Amino acid sequence: QKTLLEGINEQIKTKNVELLHLQFVDIEGTLKQVTVTVEQLDEVVKGETMFDGSSVTGFTPINQSDLYLLPDLSTFLVLPWTEEKGYSEARFLCSVTNPDHTLFEGDPRNVLKKTVDKATEKGYSINVGPELEFFLFKTDENGKPTKEVHDQGGYFEPAPDDLGERVRLEIYRTLKKMGFTIEASHHEVAEGQHEINFKFDDALTTADNATTFKWVVKTVAKQFGLHATFMPKPVFGANGNGMHVNMSLFNEVEGKNAFYDESDSRQLSKTAYQFIAGLLKHVKSFAAFTNPLVNSYKRLVPGYEAPCYIAWSSSNRSALVRIPANRGLATRVEIRCPDPSANPYYAFAAIAAAGLDGVTSNLEVPEETTDDIFSMSEEVREERQIDNLPTTLGESIEAMNDGEIGRKVLGEFAFQEYLSFKKAEWDSYRIAVTEWELDQYKTKF
Ligand code: GLN
Ligand code: MG
Ligand code: MG
Ligand code: MG
Repeated sequence: QKTLLEGINEQIKTKNVELLHLQFVDIEGTLKQVTVTVEQLDEVVKGETMFDGSSVTGFTPINQSDLYLLPDLSTFLVLPWTEEKGYSEARFLCSVTNPDHTLFEGDPRNVLKKTVDKATEKGYSINVGPELEFFLFKTDENGKPTKEVHDQGGYFEPAPDDLGERVRLEIYRTLKKMGFTIEASHHEVAEGQHEINFKFDDALTTADNATTFKWVVKTVAKQFGLHATFMPKPVFGANGNGMHVNMSLFNEVEGKNAFYDESDSRQLSKTAYQFIAGLLKHVKSFAAFTNPLVNSYKRLVPGYEAPCYIAWSSSNRSALVRIPANRGLATRVEIRCPDPSANPYYAFAAIAAAGLDGVTSNLEVPEETTDDIFSMSEEVREERQIDNLPTTLGESIEAMNDGEIGRKVLGEFAFQEYLSFKKAEWDSYRIAVTEWELDQYKTKF
């Protein structure tokens, strides 16, 4: 049996790898990298690559700034777009460590690992399948993104109206070479909007994949002279970009889906109902992770297939939590509020922790909402006790601070970093004077 490292060395030889990019993410999930030459592989693998933590958002160290990168060998891959010139480049995703080789607690990857470990202690593995949507925008002569979307296609529309088809094909080919299993690709509802789905995996692998996915989409779009964006609501009056998160728990010992129970009327297990109850209970306090931007809350408004109310349903797409029809091993819950600007490591950790709390605390799930919530009056919603999701980042930050999920999942250090970062973002928006205000008030008052 070949070890991971032997496999890596083999690829380095056959593909003539010249450079290694050591990648990690900051607290926003933004990809960072330092590049070394392939001759340094030995030191790299030992985790001896140092960097200045104080220059990375949210990595302000407690008492020193030297941090180290420990590559996860299973994330090695050669970058397909560098393969043509005879030499190629590869990357590792890394965990951030302290000088004493312990895991740095401010690294989002380490945060998700902790949540995964806690689930393992309870006998569960966490499976995640996200659906990331994005827009393609035209660029100007300087290569800067314009406000003009790339095409006028609509939901599931084929070429010639879907001008993004070629771009998606190239994204598909690139991801496939990088080891992704792509399940579907289509034009989305809004003009210039697209979706490509990759196969679910364990939570950490999927967070790594989501990070790689966003990077590849942007890289390939650029090769076509386009700008890809995952910002949640780039166009007023059109659908926004969601990142529905499909999640399930597997019983590690039996290798069975813990959400499936043949004998139930919906074929859902008690664990599944408790998990849903946990999501509903904690969603307000984890929204700052799944919907982290000022702009995220402009997507969560009625009329654009994005949820605004806290309810669940086995089919209803206006609900926050939906249960897709698949059963057996594919039984899962779909939470629909997250958007692709979220740091996937924090988002998946927070969602999983919320659901798992429902399981450990034996939470009772409220009644299913089968009616369209968007067409309900406020009175009916009140009568049925259907609460609202936070409507601004400010509300979300407050709920995160008052709730337990953030501190529990991130730990005190990372939590304080995230809290102060998000507070600063909200304050900067709060005091900005916008075009909207000038249009509304400047002449009238
Ligand atoms: N774009 C929608 C959202 O904001 C989702 C649309 C869909 O996938 N059905 O969540
Ligand atoms: Mg989808
Ligand atoms: Mg979609
Ligand atoms: Mg979906």
